[in-house]
This record gives sequence, structure tokens and C-alpha cells, in this order.
Amino acid sequence: MNKIRKLFMIGKDMYIDGIVEVDVLLKNFLPNEHVQRVLDITPAKLREMGIKGVITDLDNTLVAWNVKDATPEVVEWFKEMKANDIKVTIISNNDEERVSVFSEPLEAPFVYSARKPLIRAFKRTAKQMGLNKEEIVVIGDQLLTDVLGGNFAGFHTILVVPIVETDGKITRLNRMIERRILNWMRRKGMITWEEK
Ligand SMILES: [Mg+2]
Repeated sequence: MNKIRKLFMIGKDMYIDGIVEVDVLLKNFLPNEHVQRVLDITPAKLREMGIKGVITDLDNTLVAWNVKDATPEVVEWFKEMKANDIKVTIISNNDEERVSVFSEPLEAPFVYSARKPLIRAFKRTAKQMGLNKEEIVVIGDQLLTDVLGGNFAGFHTILVVPIVETDGKITRLNRMIERRILNWMRRKGMITWEEK
């Protein structure tokens, strides 16, 4: 185990100070799986894993952050999940208007202003879905919100490649920190996928 007393740089002018077990600390950000697109996650694959519910992020996971409505492929993905008795709930840190306008046509339950990575919204949603944490996967494009929150709440986490690179202000900062964490994990051999 790698114990260090140092300023651990996580972004420009951003450090974690102290004695840290880096491996333990950073493992919280490690997704259980990594796929290219949300569409690669099929009901068949989920059923094989014993999964009955999906908690998914919206922006840059289902569609680009600046796209208002679901694409035909995403509409189809929701239909397929429903046809296979897999419940899907959308949890987003974005505001009510954005999340409701997107989710309502899909007849998907949603949570807006979820404050991920806080686990409250995750836990509440699992309860509403009537499922155990072992029966739910959390899908998202960000380590600092989706994966960290999903891991803290005890779910299986799946990271997807963000649909577009550009994003809002806060997310740009998140991305920078994220890149450092991913690079570190790659060096440690914790992850094997390559960044595009
Ligand atoms: Mg996102």
C-alpha cells in the first residue's frame, strides 16, 4: 500500500494535504466497468448480472448536455429496458426544467438537483425502485459525481465516455481532476481502457 505524506495534486492549484493511502483514496473513483456508450449496456447483459434497475445520469451520458430531447436510439434503449422489466431512473444534478423536459416523454422517473456525489438521491431512488443495491447499476460519464456517488452508495458503477467534450463550467474543473485520477489509475494498472 502506497502511503505518502505529500501535497497530492488533483488539479491546477488544487491539492490534498496529508498522509494518504492513495490507493484506498482513489479506489473510490474506480468504476466497476467502463463502456463506450450507454447503448452498449443491454438488458441481456444486465439480466446476466442479476440487475433489475438502472440509475443513470443524463448530461453527456444519455445525450449531449446541450441536447434537449432523447435521440431515437435512446428512446429505443428505454423501451427495451422496459420490455425486459428493467427499471430506469434518471438522476441528474441539472435543474428541474432540463431533467423533466427530457425524462417525461420517456415516461422515466427522474430526480433533478440530485447533488451527486452525495448518496441521498441514490439511496432514495433505490428505495423507490423497490430494489436492493445489488440489483442496481449506476451509469454516468463523470468520476467525481456519478462513479464516486454510486460507489459510496454501494452500487455497481459503469463509466461511459462523455458524448461531447464541451460542458458547463463546473464540469470542466471536474474533468481536469478526473483526467489526473484516470492517468494515475492507468499508471497503476487499475484500468486497462485507453482514453480516446
Ligand atoms: Mg454527466
